[in-house]
Amino acid sequence: MSGDGMLHWKTFAIGCSLALTLFLFAQHRPVMPEPNEFRAVIDLTHNLNDRSPNWEGTEESPYQAKELGNLERDGYYSRVFRTQEHYGTHLDAPAHFAAGAWTVDQIPAEHLVRPLVVVDVHKQAKNNPDYEITVEDIAAWEDAHGMIPSGAVVMAYTGWDERWNSQKEFRNEQADRLTHYPGFSLETARFLVKTRGVVGLGIDTMSVDIGATTTYPVHVFTSKENIYHLENVANLALVPAAGATVVVAPIKLEKGSGGPARVLALVR
Ligand SMILES: [Zn+2]
Repeated sequence: MSGDGMLHWKTFAIGCSLALTLFLFAQHRPVMPEPNEFRAVIDLTHNLNDRSPNWEGTEESPYQAKELGNLERDGYYSRVFRTQEHYGTHLDAPAHFAAGAWTVDQIPAEHLVRPLVVVDVHKQAKNNPDYEITVEDIAAWEDAHGMIPSGAVVMAYTGWDERWNSQKEFRNEQADRLTHYPGFSLETARFLVKTRGVVGLGIDTMSVDIGATTTYPVHVFTSKENIYHLENVANLALVPAAGATVVVAPIKLEKGSGGPARVLALVR
């Protein structure tokens, strides 16, 4: 083939691939609303760093980041990091508590973009760190906003994220050697899953179960139902109780029991 022929062939190939791209794009119309259909995006994620409270309450953080590339030395900046899967704002995959349930990479993408329901119990939890979110709290939400939409993610705002900067206060371990912070009751979790078809539960504490449990009934029940959890969620006070859409973007760790997640609320 002459140089000239090669050029024509290349132009033809580029034209074909462009046409194919346009064709595929037309086939896959975006499911997401256009950006101008929501007025704000609220970040429900804490920064991932070595200063976040950790489950065990150890001095040494389970998260470490180390510089690999240095701009001055190498011309680029990069790091290597390690972390527990359940650290910072993170997702629990159902496989965390149920054999054969979804690992984080197996959660269908359509479960990760959903209507967001925020149940505000910070007043109830203020003087009772062992507060369990009740079915009555859910009923009160529905009285105000109508029935929880099917397939929603329900998050509890307990006010606990105000303690985020102190591991001691956030874990709130007491003389009984148990941590004390609010969570969902098993009855409430069962109600939300069985009658409202939720796909995920979220909370601004370290666990969807109350801190003082030793048996994790909400984790055990929901995981078998392939329901995921979001823990250590931030900024729930800024999200309207109803009408937002949540975008849950966990790191897609193959076989992961969970992992750090970016969580965003799209507010209309
Ligand atoms: Zn977790």
